[in-house]
Amino acid sequence: ARVEDKLFQNRYLVDAGKPHIKVRAHETPSAALVALTAVCPAKCYEMNDRGQVEITPDGCMECGTCRILCEASGDIEWDYPRGGYGVLYKFG
Ligand code: SF4
Repeated sequence: ARVEDKLFQNRYLVDAGKPHIKVRAHETPSAALVALTAVCPAKCYEMNDRGQVEITPDGCMECGTCRILCEASGDIEWDYPRGGYGVLYKFG
């Protein structure tokens, strides 16, 4: 089968009880957090009306971009989802 056919089989289960990425509380977001509102491919990061960056991890593709960007600053906490949640890659 074509790759697109295989990718179409990916399933995303939202682990509502335990968001696996959290933004650390802040008054003013760091440059890295602001950048995430633009670069996250799933648009999980958004600026709220108080000028703080919030995350809604539903739909996160676990690309790791936010983790890498905020590694030095510690702006976010990133945990791998519990078994059975998150993106399940299914091939073949
Ligand atoms: Fe967005 Fe990727 Fe971070 Fe998920 S891992 S929130 S898709 S930047």
